[in-house]
Amino acid sequence: METPVRSRALATEAVHAGREDLAALGLHAAPIDLSTTYPSHDSRAEAARIDAFAETGAEPTLDGPPIYGRLGNPTVARFETALARLEGTESAVAFASGMAALSAVLLARSAMGLRHVVAVRPLYGCSDHLLTAGLLGTEVTWTDPAGVEDALRPDTGLVMVESPANPTLAEIDLRAVAHACGSVPLLVDNTFATPVLQRPAEQGARLVLHSATKYLGGHGDVLAGVVACDEELAGRLRQIRFATGGVLHPLAGYLLLRGLSTLPIRVRAASATAAELTRRLAADPRVTRVHYPSIGGAMVAFEVAGDPHEVISSVRLITPAVSLGSVDTLIQHPASISHRIVDAGDRRNAGVSDRLLRMSVGLEDVEDLWADLDAALGDGCGEAGAGVGEPAVAGRA
Ligand SMILES: *Cc1c(COP(=O)(O)O)cnc(C)c1O
Repeated sequence: METPVRSRALATEAVHAGREDLAALGLHAAPIDLSTTYPSHDSRAEAARIDAFAETGAEPTLDGPPIYGRLGNPTVARFETALARLEGTESAVAFASGMAALSAVLLARSAMGLRHVVAVRPLYGCSDHLLTAGLLGTEVTWTDPAGVEDALRPDTGLVMVESPANPTLAEIDLRAVAHACGSVPLLVDNTFATPVLQRPAEQGARLVLHSATKYLGGHGDVLAGVVACDEELAGRLRQIRFATGGVLHPLAGYLLLRGLSTLPIRVRAASATAAELTRRLAADPRVTRVHYPSIGGAMVAFEVAGDPHEVISSVRLITPAVSLGSVDTLIQHPASISHRIVDAGDRRNAGVSDRLLRMSVGLEDVEDLWADLDAALGDGCGEAGAGVGEPAVAGRA
């Protein structure tokens, strides 16, 4: 793996990183390698490479064919190289989904006897559930950013935060939390910001996680996850991925690499529209509160004076669906869907109101989106809106 180069701008890296060898191969588009196995007459060399992988987790595609598809894939490796470059980390390891990526991190740490996780709410509902239920044998202490240092124990293997968080868009001072972590690795779920708006590794995070299903893929047609980190942790993650099998399909790797090409332009365009919708929602009496991150982004969350289920059933252009980060605008009710699995009390304490709607703004024209939202908000269902002219709220809700 090449050492990270940050000399070129993000927009340039987005279309070139992971493709540097293509011209020499006589290719323009990245090839899709669908092989599950790789022939070799040199089993001594393969044995040596398997031993090296068992020792360090070094990418086995570097000095020869990958041996077997679960060990590595050249198309997926291109995506990993590109994402690492965008996040400014040494390496990245791709998985079948964001949850497979988080599971691998938790397993890698608990395999070292570090079973305790310190986490800050809110997190994506299923991440919250995975930690709360202890499904992988981990134990979680929930705290706020100021309480991280005091929550650390000798067996703490990970501190986990999301910023901006799903679904409230609450933001965390990553540099301060990274400092509080000391030698414990900080994992930042950067799904909402993407490296276009925030590079947590530059602020001290050792692991940067993405549900690549969202903005990195960007078109609502790929499930994937990825962890950007240093090569030492990446090696452990590749070993876990090999042993547990949560690999990314090569076709998904191809689509993600293609998705990265337009990531900067998609995120900036959708963010501009989201900022304008935030202004209009904040000035609307049918809306009691608007959440929009100080760093920008294409996600907007807002609390309605009336019935949030009515809004979901009334949108016509906007798609009423969970997930986010696609080219079209999606809206969902976190208390019913994305965060349903979180205990209602914990959910509300984390700032996830039952009247909160979460919208992922796409690339449609802002006037068409506003017309749809305006109609879906209807008459506000009779209850007085308290938020006339209330400014957009940034930071922790
Ligand atoms: C969707 C999501 C995940 C889970 O990713 P999958 O690809 O659905 O497994 C994790 N974190 C955040 C912030 C998400 O939005």
